[in-house]
Amino acid sequence: MVERSDYISDAEWERFLEFSDKLETPNLVINLRTIKKNYLKLQNSFPYADIYYAVKANPAAEVIKTVADLGSNFDIASRYELDKVLALGVEPERITYGNTIKKAKDIAYFFEKGVRMFATDSKEDLKNIAKFAPGSKIYVRILVENSATADWPLSRKFGCHPDMAYDLFIKARELSLTPYGISFHVGSQQRDIGQWNDAIAKTKYLMTSLEEEEGINLKMINMGGGFPASYIDPTNDLKEYASEITRYLRDDFGDDIPQIILEPGRSLVGDAGILTSEIVLISRKNNTALNRWVYLDTGKFNGLIETLGESIKYPVVTRDCNTSKKSANVILAGPTCDSMDIMYEDCKYKLPTDIKSGQRLYWLSTGAYTSSYASVEFNGFPPIKTYFMN
Ligand SMILES: *Cc1c(COP(=O)(O)O)cnc(C)c1O
Repeated sequence: MVERSDYISDAEWERFLEFSDKLETPNLVINLRTIKKNYLKLQNSFPYADIYYAVKANPAAEVIKTVADLGSNFDIASRYELDKVLALGVEPERITYGNTIKKAKDIAYFFEKGVRMFATDSKEDLKNIAKFAPGSKIYVRILVENSATADWPLSRKFGCHPDMAYDLFIKARELSLTPYGISFHVGSQQRDIGQWNDAIAKTKYLMTSLEEEEGINLKMINMGGGFPASYIDPTNDLKEYASEITRYLRDDFGDDIPQIILEPGRSLVGDAGILTSEIVLISRKNNTALNRWVYLDTGKFNGLIETLGESIKYPVVTRDCNTSKKSANVILAGPTCDSMDIMYEDCKYKLPTDIKSGQRLYWLSTGAYTSSYASVEFNGFPPIKTYFMN
């Protein structure tokens, strides 16, 4: 069983309960103060970097506004995200189209709205950008291997081999685009800081050969996301990430560090959320079974999709949780008629032996990749509702 106070102070917990007790479950409460704090900590840890918030992590207008007011730029993946961010008053110069998978007509739409920086990792997409966003800045996403140590890997689907990236930059110049930088993403919730070292070294190598052999002078490295939120599996503090990564940059680039872009999602908003669920039913599958099944009113389809493969292990607590209470193993499952709707079975979660149906369970650190991933109407259940605290 996790100790609630390892994740949130008593005072903050009381303030949260006062806010959330009157709300129907399931719900997600986002503490905007925590997002501010996380943003400032990231900016202070990487004073030389430009922050582009990865909107997909939590696309709520309140969240976008909070980071926009702090000066954030935005990494956008679709025209829908673009419309939303522009409607909140963010200038197109603060936006990149970071998705490598895009329709030609969406490229044209971004260009028309004033966006001038595009990610790519393929020839076909590059040609579309040249045609529908002429002259724009291009950064090429390279493949980095990260599946072993990231809790939510983003490899394989995105990025191309550095050799291919090399060719794409030459092609970009031919097509009168502006070769601008290299991007990578070492995998979300990346617990091995050394992964950035490998990625930065690859980037350096590619930049040097492009400059020496082709005279193409890239100005920027987009280091993606991957910084941690606080789940059950421990990670280093963000300060540790920052000092190590800064050292890798100095090792490779000396005093001549290019423009650095960071695209945090999870690390900005993850810890700002608490998802509250109600216990619907507690049962055992046979008379002598040791494990209790605990069914909740939230599951994989209304907020907890990242429990797929039991990848992200959220701290789950009851109101008065503490490790001195008598506890026993549970299997945590959602309310829908899909047998995939089980959050944790192999990973042994413990809850107090005296929990009852009707009580609330709190899922800590659920501000990222929860509300935006909820299904619309599976079994009639609506997407989870979000509320905002200041
Ligand atoms: C999802 C994503 C991010 C955010 O990653 P986190 O690990 O949540 O910080 C950043 N950049 C790109 C291109 C992404 O797809």
